[in-house]
Amino acid sequence: MKQSKIKRAEKRELKGPSLTIKWALASSFFIFVVFTIFAVITYKSSVNLIVAKERGNLEKTTAEVVSRLANSEKELTITDTYKNLSNSIFSDGQQFEKTTTIEGTLMQIDPFISELGQEGLSLYVYNLDKELVFETQNRKQKLFQETRKSPTIITLDSKIGFLSIEVIYSKGTREKIGYAQTFYELSSFYEIKNKLLLTLIVLEVVSLILSSVLGFFLSSYFLKPLKELRDTMDTIRKDPQSDIHMKDIKTNDELADLSEIFNEMLDRMRLYIEQQEQFVEDVSHELRTPVAIIEGHLSLLNRWGKDDPEVLEESLNASMQEISRMKSLVQEMLDLSRAEQVDIHYANEVTNAKEVVYQVYNNFKILHPDFVLTLDDDIPEEIQLGIFRNHFEQIIIIILDNAIKYSTLRKEVHISISTSRNEFEIAIQDFGEGISEDDLKKIFNRFYRVDKARARNKGGNGLGLSIAKQLIESYKGTVAAESAVNQGTIFRIFIPIKKK
Ligand code: ADP
Repeated sequence: MKQSKIKRAEKRELKGPSLTIKWALASSFFIFVVFTIFAVITYKSSVNLIVAKERGNLEKTTAEVVSRLANSEKELTITDTYKNLSNSIFSDGQQFEKTTTIEGTLMQIDPFISELGQEGLSLYVYNLDKELVFETQNRKQKLFQETRKSPTIITLDSKIGFLSIEVIYSKGTREKIGYAQTFYELSSFYEIKNKLLLTLIVLEVVSLILSSVLGFFLSSYFLKPLKELRDTMDTIRKDPQSDIHMKDIKTNDELADLSEIFNEMLDRMRLYIEQQEQFVEDVSHELRTPVAIIEGHLSLLNRWGKDDPEVLEESLNASMQEISRMKSLVQEMLDLSRAEQVDIHYANEVTNAKEVVYQVYNNFKILHPDFVLTLDDDIPEEIQLGIFRNHFEQIIIIILDNAIKYSTLRKEVHISISTSRNEFEIAIQDFGEGISEDDLKKIFNRFYRVDKARARNKGGNGLGLSIAKQLIESYKGTVAAESAVNQGTIFRIFIPIKKK
């Protein structure tokens, strides 16, 4: 990283309303709908309940009035009506016990009388000529109609209430003797109804405001990491070189996960970019040496060397050598870049493992007659590997080549092949100069050579092992090396066996 300081993300303006606002609006809309439904149901059922109760009361009172008035045998008069309404105790034995004292019965009759005296209730009794003979309120109300009317809500004298009319028939003669009209004013009921409505509306408004405010704060709290993530991404978009990161989020939820993944991705991306930059730097550095050597020779020849056949010969040879080094470097770089795309192009390739190993082994025996090469084969039958033949060959050649290149004293190389579980293993062991523990960690890096000058003499660019490792890993295999300085090195390659 070029800059180690972690910068903060810049704030960015949105084109539309933020998620916080949308969330707050959505939650308050939801609460509004739920509360409205609840309020409507509460309101309707309370109103219906009160209306039903009032109607029931009125029906009961009217029935009692009718029952008492029906005790009269002739057309209703003021005195009859008054007597029957107040003294029915003596004629109606079912309701009142005859053994009770006068004071006691008066106490029992009182509720009905006081019920009739209620402010909202008016009872009108008419004779057969529809003349008012009795009323509990001094309003002089006319008979509404001559037929029976069950309690119905109407407006009478600009007052809303239940009106009920009963035609009275004498219990004794079964003759029509008059009419009873009751009106029960619902003004207090409307008052309650309006108060209930107002309370519900106020509650609804308060809950709407509360839920919006709460929704806004909650969503801005929960979505804070998302905003930071967006700002961080925007900062990186504007300045790809910037090294900012997302802050650690301790919430342990999806957003914390997202932020962690984002940071990991950032690190990996930066590592790739860094490696890429390093690669370009290394390549130009690698090319600079041969170019400088060729340039030196050419300017030497240009000045005076071309007339000296010896210098000319030497310069041309050296230049040719550098050119072929450049050629191999370019080829190796090409191989490396192709090795990275193996899985796209060679996904279905199959190779006979033993056949290729034997072929490379025989070729090396011919090429290096001064070396003792042995092949230890533990595999009874041919096996198939899911790898492109040329790549498998290339991997073995790179490792074998190194074993030969870095074995100067004891010219011996052992190859052994075996299988374990679902993997094919090839181990290549030499008894050469070996690699120190520190270098062993780096030998698979691009352009890494333990001894630059020596490797150069041997024609090494430091790309061979990188290519081999890249190829092996592209085919889901692994490679490992063990080494001891001056004792030798062993490379083990594992490649998955193709299932039939
Ligand atoms: P080069 O083309 O230089 O051989 P490689 O990537 O193949 O590049 O190897 C990287 C370095 O690892 C070599 O420069 C060498 O120093 C070391 N190395 C590789 N194989 C062996 C080996 N069998 N014995 C000792 N050193 C080795």
